[in-house]
Amino acid sequence: MQLGAHVSAAGGPQNSPARGRQIGCDCIQVFTRNQRQWQGKPVTDTEVAAFRENRAEHGIGVVMSHASYLLNLGTIDPEKAEKSFNAFVEELVRCHRLGVEWLNFHPGAHTGAGEQTGIDQIAASLNAVCRAHPDKDDVGLVLENVAGQGTTLGRSFTELRAILDRLETPERFGVCVDTAHAFAAGYPLHTEAGWEETWAEFDQVLGLDRLVALHLNDSKVPFASRKDRHALIGRGEIGPDAFRRVVTDARTRALPMFLETPAGPAGWAEEIRWLRAVAEGADAPLPEIQDSGVKL
Ligand SMILES: [Zn+2]
Ligand SMILES: [Zn+2]
Repeated sequence: MQLGAHVSAAGGPQNSPARGRQIGCDCIQVFTRNQRQWQGKPVTDTEVAAFRENRAEHGIGVVMSHASYLLNLGTIDPEKAEKSFNAFVEELVRCHRLGVEWLNFHPGAHTGAGEQTGIDQIAASLNAVCRAHPDKDDVGLVLENVAGQGTTLGRSFTELRAILDRLETPERFGVCVDTAHAFAAGYPLHTEAGWEETWAEFDQVLGLDRLVALHLNDSKVPFASRKDRHALIGRGEIGPDAFRRVVTDARTRALPMFLETPAGPAGWAEEIRWLRAVAEGADAPLPEIQDSGVKL
């Protein structure tokens, strides 16, 4: 089991391992800089050294960075495309320096240009990144499935496949499945049959060896609603059974899993405890925690 959450990197990424350990994380996801600003300070040598040291000291396994929500690798607007490309490269450089294994990102949105154009543009942007930085292949690039809000791309496994098929170095890429996004995009994770169908389809379309991580979130919005609203584990429209399955199913239980629920740090500690208990077959009741209103 590698259970974790999206922990704060306030004050610098070197502060995140202790925050993760404090709430019982084996692995952590972070923003390597303020995700709501285009320009971030580069990480300093001191921060890099401290991050590596603190990570070892607190026994944190896998670290995943979540790229900024601002960037859109699917846009055909030249100015926005350049800004997104530069921000993505800066993110890759930060991950490489910090020794972060995975850089997770939302594929992008076509903003009216059409799905085909958007997919071509995303692949072209990613190919340009990889061509410019062949030496940073120690950082795995991770396409995250999305709920399918607006013109966002990557809500279905076939759309992710279409992007992968256009990549020059697909071996540098993995996929992260967000349970709330998959459910909102129309994958019926809430039923036993739907759970089976979903992973069978994933395997057929993408191959289970592409699956490198999971974002564990319940959903505040109904099945196939194509909206992205995370709920506390077991308290949303997906319900607890899917989360029992995720920590027991041989296809998913060994993957790094990151909570992005609105539980906040104290609540994540409870959610992690519950997931560990049900992984061992306990009939544990869901934790009584509050929705902190935190949105990830
Ligand atoms: Zn995400
Ligand atoms: Zn989400």
